[in-house]
Amino acid sequence: MSCFVEVAPDSHFSLQNLPFGVFRPRTGGPARVGSRIGDFVLDLAALEAAGHFRSPEFGDAQPFASDSLNAFMALDRPAWRHARAVLQRLLTGERSALPADALRPLAEVEMLLPARIGDYTDFYASYHHAHNVGTMLRGAENALMPNWLHLPVGYHGRASSIVLDGTPVRRPRGQIKPPDAPAPIFGPTRSLDYELEVAFFVGPGNALGQPVPIERAEEHIFGFVLMNDWSARDVQAWEYQPLGPFLAKNFCTSISPWVVTLEALEPFRRPLPAQSPEPLPYLRGGSTYDLVLEAHLQAPGAEPFAVTRTNFQNLYWSAAQMLAHHTCGGCNLQPGDLLGSGTVSGPTEESRGCLLERTWRGAHPLTLSNGATRKQLEDGDTLTLTGWAQGDGFRVGFGEVGGTILPAHDAP
Ligand code: CA
Repeated sequence: MSCFVEVAPDSHFSLQNLPFGVFRPRTGGPARVGSRIGDFVLDLAALEAAGHFRSPEFGDAQPFASDSLNAFMALDRPAWRHARAVLQRLLTGERSALPADALRPLAEVEMLLPARIGDYTDFYASYHHAHNVGTMLRGAENALMPNWLHLPVGYHGRASSIVLDGTPVRRPRGQIKPPDAPAPIFGPTRSLDYELEVAFFVGPGNALGQPVPIERAEEHIFGFVLMNDWSARDVQAWEYQPLGPFLAKNFCTSISPWVVTLEALEPFRRPLPAQSPEPLPYLRGGSTYDLVLEAHLQAPGAEPFAVTRTNFQNLYWSAAQMLAHHTCGGCNLQPGDLLGSGTVSGPTEESRGCLLERTWRGAHPLTLSNGATRKQLEDGDTLTLTGWAQGDGFRVGFGEVGGTILPAHDAP
């Protein structure tokens, strides 16, 4: 079966991927749902209007003439699978079967946030990340808190400041307590960092008071994106106890535009690494995926610098465990909610997923091609995340999510 759109072997957007996103034609017209094949965007609202998705799986639903994926996310896996099968059939058939303008060059569209994100939660699911950060803050003996091996630690984040790939990142101001100062000061962060994460969108929600058992958790997971949880480390160090991160994280969080489905990732599913001690029964389950994840720094006047190369399999807790834990007390998730993995750090230096770990809290700055060094992100730097699964002659990837650091606003 070959696709009539040419797709390079290293393209993230093969016939095996077919992610979902939201776009607006640059030539005008409303936002709508699309899919991606090679360097083209397929207009799913146009296919829907032509009746291509009519099926028992869709029923009366017409989710694609919309400026968000929420209505499509609220359907279920049989509907998502049906949409994918329709797209694969159309793309391997006659091009003439597509409505005019249904296939648009990427350059002719503007990508938008894929969903109206009602709530956003961030976890802390990499053992190596938690252990490294804990060692820096509290020493190796107390690196992991007593709860860490028993539950996926998380916190409720801020949905309003989630932005799309390409959105500039304004250096935040905040309250900072320098170690040698008697009292805190207020000013621009001197320790701006990235966090390489993967996040997933919730599909159908659960009713308030009704937990999702782990065996059914994946029925509530629509798909995955890359996420950069920009962080102000000096603000974080001063504010985080006892309730966890607050302003150090809520100024901006960036995600990639295309949501990659579990169907596309299925060939890359792997067993979850062994968990010891065995989690409580409500947390037993889930799996992982073989996904290469990278972070690249483009500093002004320097060659691009590969800061991080890691793998999704470095996460200790599965997405299913995160979702089951999130709902175990009765919290209701809703379509379009976003749940982040936490920084995906591995055991080696190059697999550490943020500058805090990569430079060991600034003790070992990175040296760039022009001799400049980095302990933190500087104004003008661009940090980009990318990630993909490598198939036999094809890739299923996320594209990228990048942002350039802008100087702090003048003090209020
Ligand atoms: Ca994070």
